[in-house]
Amino acid sequence: MLDQTILPLIKEIDSQIFDLVVNEESRQHEQLRLIPSENYASPAVKAALATSFTNKYGEGYPRRRYYQGQINTDKLETLVVERAKEIFNYPYANVQALSGAPANLAVYTAFMKPFAGKIMALKLDHGGHLTHGSPVSVTGKWFEISSYGCDESDLIDMEAVRKQALEFKPDILVCGYTAYPRTVDFKGFSEIAAEVGAITLADISHIAGLVAAGAHPSPAPYIDVVTFTTHKTLRGPRGAIILSKNEEHAKLIDKAVFPGLQGGPHFNTIAAIGVALEEAKTDKYKNYCQQIVKNAQAMSNEFNNKGYHVTSGGTDNHLLLIDVRKSSKLPGKRVARSLEKVGIICNFNTVPNASKRQKPLYPDGIRLGTPALTTRGMQEDEMKTTVELIDKTIKNIRTGKIPKGESVWKNHELVDSIETEVKKLATSFPTFEW
Ligand SMILES: *Cc1c(COP(=O)(O)O)cnc(C)c1O
Repeated sequence: MLDQTILPLIKEIDSQIFDLVVNEESRQHEQLRLIPSENYASPAVKAALATSFTNKYGEGYPRRRYYQGQINTDKLETLVVERAKEIFNYPYANVQALSGAPANLAVYTAFMKPFAGKIMALKLDHGGHLTHGSPVSVTGKWFEISSYGCDESDLIDMEAVRKQALEFKPDILVCGYTAYPRTVDFKGFSEIAAEVGAITLADISHIAGLVAAGAHPSPAPYIDVVTFTTHKTLRGPRGAIILSKNEEHAKLIDKAVFPGLQGGPHFNTIAAIGVALEEAKTDKYKNYCQQIVKNAQAMSNEFNNKGYHVTSGGTDNHLLLIDVRKSSKLPGKRVARSLEKVGIICNFNTVPNASKRQKPLYPDGIRLGTPALTTRGMQEDEMKTTVELIDKTIKNIRTGKIPKGESVWKNHELVDSIETEVKKLATSFPTFEW
């Protein structure tokens, strides 16, 4: 819940925005949020975002600014950088990148000139991110891209990556993904990069919290440069951190962020990142991350038991992909939209080894994650119930082509009763269980 002393201030000035805030709060409270990149930030993180740090300009870095009045902002940024370094075991950190996409662009432009650099990364439709060289992203327009894929078991085949890297000779070899349910072999990637003379980039946006808590192996000391968003499993504000291993890299990265790509840092965000990092040091947070993984595994076991096709057969982290075309003869988008109607929020997603009909906007799968539900205090039992609700919903969706204007449901009465159960489950847990 938002601080009750802050909300009335919005209402007094702007009732339209106030109403939207209140409605969004209720939505987040009443629905089951299964988008693996989303979470509920703590009240302390949200409070930090609303502080007077939002009022301050500070282009540059601590003690090297273009504006006066940095007595507190310099201390703030230095403190948050130190925390990031300590938690992730890297000697250099930049906390100014505005989000994940600009952080990745900063790394690429730190080491490569546009139209003269080569990136090798996982294919978008096998779980890579848009900023890993998709043709619709500037990363794919400015750089030469070679994408690796998953094998027929939906796993990254390191020997195939090695062969491809030896042939392509990337400047930057990217690992770390947006829809890959398995452990990333950071050491393996670093060894391949060493053979071809590439810089390694691990984009751990999704799993940063798990890495901080020891629930996923760390990229340190193997990977040269690490980027991540701070708002996914890490449970901070929307923002990003870039870590690096040597001074020369760190200098290039700092320059690429500012003045290369950005103006003044968002100090209120940096303050909130600091609060999230402090939270991430606690035993409660470590237990939280262990539970995220247990919950995802409970969920994937339950889907397996019910005969669904879970890609790669399961999960090691916070997310799972269900090939709903293989499981239920349904396209992912129809499933995701139907689930929304009962209050279960996930996203349609491409899956590896899909049917020929799969396209980015018409994929065969859905992607589910447990970070948000786990923040609410839900455990394995609730994951089981959630899968049952998803299963009931999916079984109620019509297959085949549905003529325009006709309903997707087989049985309308069932929809209301599922929605009521979803709401009951969601509202029996707070949005932030600390
Ligand atoms: C979320 C994500 C990003 C992009 O982050 P934004 O904050 O949306 O710009 C980049 N890379 C990966 C792997 C991600 O999961």
